[in-house]
Amino acid sequence: MSSLMSEPGADGRFGEFGGRFVPESLMPACLDLEQAFKEAWADPEFHRELDDLLAHYGGRPTPVTQCRRLSEKLGVRVLLKREDLAHTGSHKINNVVGQALLTRRMGKRRIIAETGAGQHGVASATAAALFGLECTVFMGEVDTKRQELNVFRMELLGAEVRTVTSGSRTLKDAVNEAMREWVASVEHTHYCLGSVMGPHPFPYMVRELQRVVGDEARGQCREILDGADPDVVVACIGGGSNAAGTFAGFVDTAARLVGVEAAGGAAITNGIPGVLHGMFSRLLQDEAGQILEAESISAGLDYPGLGPEHAHLAAIGRAEYNTADDAEVLEAFRLLSHTEGIIPALESAHAVAWVARAAGTDALPKGSTVLITLSGRGDKDVAQVREIFGRARA
Ligand SMILES: *Cc1c(COP(=O)(O)O)cnc(C)c1O
Repeated sequence: MSSLMSEPGADGRFGEFGGRFVPESLMPACLDLEQAFKEAWADPEFHRELDDLLAHYGGRPTPVTQCRRLSEKLGVRVLLKREDLAHTGSHKINNVVGQALLTRRMGKRRIIAETGAGQHGVASATAAALFGLECTVFMGEVDTKRQELNVFRMELLGAEVRTVTSGSRTLKDAVNEAMREWVASVEHTHYCLGSVMGPHPFPYMVRELQRVVGDEARGQCREILDGADPDVVVACIGGGSNAAGTFAGFVDTAARLVGVEAAGGAAITNGIPGVLHGMFSRLLQDEAGQILEAESISAGLDYPGLGPEHAHLAAIGRAEYNTADDAEVLEAFRLLSHTEGIIPALESAHAVAWVARAAGTDALPKGSTVLITLSGRGDKDVAQVREIFGRARA
């Protein structure tokens, strides 16, 4: 058996999860992409160029910050992997720069992407601008109204935003539409998927492009902790890419791995195995198998499923999955801001919320060391949180 979080077999399975559940018309595109990524990932020149871009454009390596005041308050030693300091304000840049580089290598001139809250759309438009690629972003009509500012950002970056009016007119439908467009334009278009989901090779490829987060953090933690690893490594889960990249760096250590889902989008905790968007994974569905809408204060965690590798890591017990509810997340948003001068993305605040809740219990005993991947910065969320808190309480 291959070791954990290595390359899956040709069927793209992580245990029973994953695979490639696509119509025949999409099969050649998936197979071509798998081959192209394999070759690129084995090519030192590809890595040299990617590393150079991530360093001089993306702002890598991002630091690991020791949280003195928060640690004192919680009675556990807290370290933060600072993806909030990467270009565009989150880990998403790692994925899109890698896929844009691959697009050019495949000789294609256009990328398409799906987006919910707009963050992956903005990241894709950013990478497209950097490489001079055409870019079309599919976004549900409901989301274009909720996230007008991000629609403008994408247009400013030179992308076309295509409004999706089918189904529930949200992220799930934007993915369906992007897949349809990919089939229709595959000779010159790459589908730049935003997380560790979809058909093989996307879950594997996006995890590999995000593993830089975990690989960097592991070395940085060992430097801080005199060669030791953290006891617990925590990351929030939407589709699961920042968590997968983080876990990949620590899966072969003794560190416990904890993923934190939004209580209203908890595909591990409340999901049922099923097929969506080309993968077999855990999904929120009703008794008839209809996909349910995820609901969270944090638009970036509003996906009704999660990446198949997480479903596998949960099934074999290598990673644990918990939830944080909106109230805890708002408290954590304030806590990190007050104690460390770091305003986290609401997504990332889920991971902080779990640590705040678990600190001092059996799940995270006093004196233990915990690394949290801070997937992004909270500037984008400040207006929303102000509405909820009201000016007086801030
Ligand atoms: C998009 C996003 C997420 C959720 O995506 P994952 O694939 O689960 O990482 C989390 N945090 C931030 C800041 C994001 O922008």
